[in-house]
Amino acid sequence: MARTIAVIGGGVIGLCSALALERRGADVTLIDAGPPEKAASHVNAGWVVPSLSQPVPAPGLTAQSLRWMLRSDSPLYIAPRLDPDFARWLFAFWRRCNPRDHRAATEATVALGARTLALYDDLRAAGVAFEEHHDGLLYAYRDPAALAHDYAEMESLGLLDPVASPLLDGDAARALELSLSDAIVGGYWMHNERSVRPDSLVNGLRERLARGTTKLRLGERVVGMGGRNGRVDTVFTDTDSYDVEAVVVAAGAWTPQIVAPLGVRAPIEAGKGYSIDLTPPPPLPEAIGRPLYLHESRVAITPLNGMLRLAGTMELSGLNDRIRPERVRALVNNTHDAIRGWPARTPTEGAGVRVWQGARPLTPDGLPIIGWAPGWRNLALASGHAMMGVTLAPATGEVVAELVVTGTPPETIRPLDPARFA
Ligand SMILES: Cc1cc2nc3c(=O)[nH]c(=O)nc-3n(C[C@H](O)[C@H](O)[C@H](O)COP(=O)(O)OP(=O)(O)OC[C@H]3O[C@@H](n4cnc5c(N)ncnc54)[C@H](O)[C@@H]3O)c2cc1C
Repeated sequence: MARTIAVIGGGVIGLCSALALERRGADVTLIDAGPPEKAASHVNAGWVVPSLSQPVPAPGLTAQSLRWMLRSDSPLYIAPRLDPDFARWLFAFWRRCNPRDHRAATEATVALGARTLALYDDLRAAGVAFEEHHDGLLYAYRDPAALAHDYAEMESLGLLDPVASPLLDGDAARALELSLSDAIVGGYWMHNERSVRPDSLVNGLRERLARGTTKLRLGERVVGMGGRNGRVDTVFTDTDSYDVEAVVVAAGAWTPQIVAPLGVRAPIEAGKGYSIDLTPPPPLPEAIGRPLYLHESRVAITPLNGMLRLAGTMELSGLNDRIRPERVRALVNNTHDAIRGWPARTPTEGAGVRVWQGARPLTPDGLPIIGWAPGWRNLALASGHAMMGVTLAPATGEVVAELVVTGTPPETIRPLDPARFA
């Protein structure tokens, strides 16, 4: 039987990698355990936003997270656990919370995502159908000092052009987005940025692959790999096995457990996030017209066709699918004073309400892990995209395809080399 390139993981990263490989003429088999609605690619805010390229470890986060970490309704919650790997990961993460590492990681992310918007247009041209909105992203602040600080930082990191995205005071922000309340003192609008409906993107990619040459193995779990002399030759699933020419592991927060038996270290923690869909959106004096980022509470609001999605919170509690009601409620409560007329008692369950959770794949330096696994010549990793997986998926697909087809890592993924953790 002809050997195939196995892509493990059918979230946005695996799907975009499979499509880019297929478009270069490769024989691809994509394997995903499912169900899709338990994956980050389904539950996210749907933002395609190169301006959010700052990595999670940031200067000042250490002190802030110490204040947040013990409150289970805060934007960041770290569940206490006795796990030496997690302790090592946390220590490595906190070491990266300094200006030098932060700038370097931002630059590497910007470089990877430089063609993001064009690549999204290219996905559509390649026959991927999905719901997409071109309404930009409005960052909204309650605290003037935080606004001034972040605006200057975004400018200094090259993430914001002050002519295209001037600093807005509260009235200017409200003129742009009528739903904002008087609690908002200002913000800035990244008008080129976009949003997609996450499940429509996943489904659109799957449908496009199903019409092409890629073999989709959905509902099949990879349970092991066999190989020798630095080459993987077989992928075993719970129902089948595949002779492989190369393997791409794009299994998000599950990546470490898939590659560990091969002696490959991928320090990825699950950064659980929640989203809540309100269908139809709550009745408001002015409907929310564009994606909003409520800075202080770190809540993402995305208007989609016929519904509103609220998303956010970061919970480090290991890889599990437990939904903590207090964190879901915090999403709704934190929206309350930023949006004019937001109902005080917005339900978090019942008719018209769907709650989701999903694990962001987080590395200690906040950068994805993309490249050949150390010690293996045909095993590529494509994971660790943290808060940026939707934004960076098409770009990741391109570099993964180039890596696997040519064998040589493209320049942009040198800082993302898995060997940095070996
Ligand atoms: C609340 C929230 C909001 C977010 N908002 C945004 C946003 O607005 N913009 C943005 O760019 N990013 C956002 N993100 C981040 C983004 O969703 C992730 O970075 C991205 O979805 C990661 O994609 P992935 O394909 O790597 O992983 P996943 O989506 O987790 O997919 C991994 C897949 O691997 C499969 N798998 C696991 N183990 C196995 C196995 N053994 N065998 C076979 N298959 C397996 C799983 O079934 C799963 O489908 C958000 C995340 C969250 C949680």
